[in-house]
Amino acid sequence: KFISFEGPDGAGKTSVIRQIQEELEQQLGEEELMYIREPGGSRISEEIRQLLFDNKNTDMDPRTEALLFAASRRQLVVSEIIPGLKAGKVILCDRYIDSSIAYQGAGRGLGEREIWTINQFAIDGLMPDLTIYLDIESELGLTRIAKHRSNQVNRLDREKLAFHQTVRQSYLRLQQRYPERIKLIDASQPLPAVINDVKATIHDRFSE
Ligand code: C5P
Ligand code: MG
Repeated sequence: KFISFEGPDGAGKTSVIRQIQEELEQQLGEEELMYIREPGGSRISEEIRQLLFDNKNTDMDPRTEALLFAASRRQLVVSEIIPGLKAGKVILCDRYIDSSIAYQGAGRGLGEREIWTINQFAIDGLMPDLTIYLDIESELGLTRIAKHRSNQVNRLDREKLAFHQTVRQSYLRLQQRYPERIKLIDASQPLPAVINDVKATIHDRFSE
């Protein structure tokens, strides 16, 4: 089972995944679960992550950025996700292809179709069984970020409100296009309510 978690900045994705991971570990056992974060999650992918986030790289071209995200994802698929699935694990993936469509395709304006195409080349058809989309209004998301991570700003964390609104609209379109795969969770709720919704969604999807 391959579950990806998506959402605009400030949706609380990291806290949600951490808590879901703990609960699933207790339920299934630690060996049955694999947590990976994107970009990164394998040695090569982590090195690409450094390139993407490095504050020195202000001159990075948007297409270079999109290709690096896709390259990082490719390596993650081959070195972690496929072996994990073969071993029968539940994989919790912090971001996957939808992030690229929303951030690089819509946010950077490279075109959602184009980003879809290069990423299909990268993942070679390996789509998540379920995508948890944590939806948050852009203003609220940015307010949350300002409170929680003023001390760890990377190159990609410097975007303004309009960028985040574009990203969110793209996510909402994706959810409407793929309602079977992508489930929307209202991430403006208090964390325990969000966790409950996520748990119910995972349960529904895999108890059929
Ligand atoms: O997932 P996380 O919130 O840690 O993402 C780190 C940063 O990378 C965020 O600023 C996010 O907006 C950015 N990002 C991006 N394009 C992606 C994925 C993440 O700009 N495809
Ligand atoms: Mg985060």
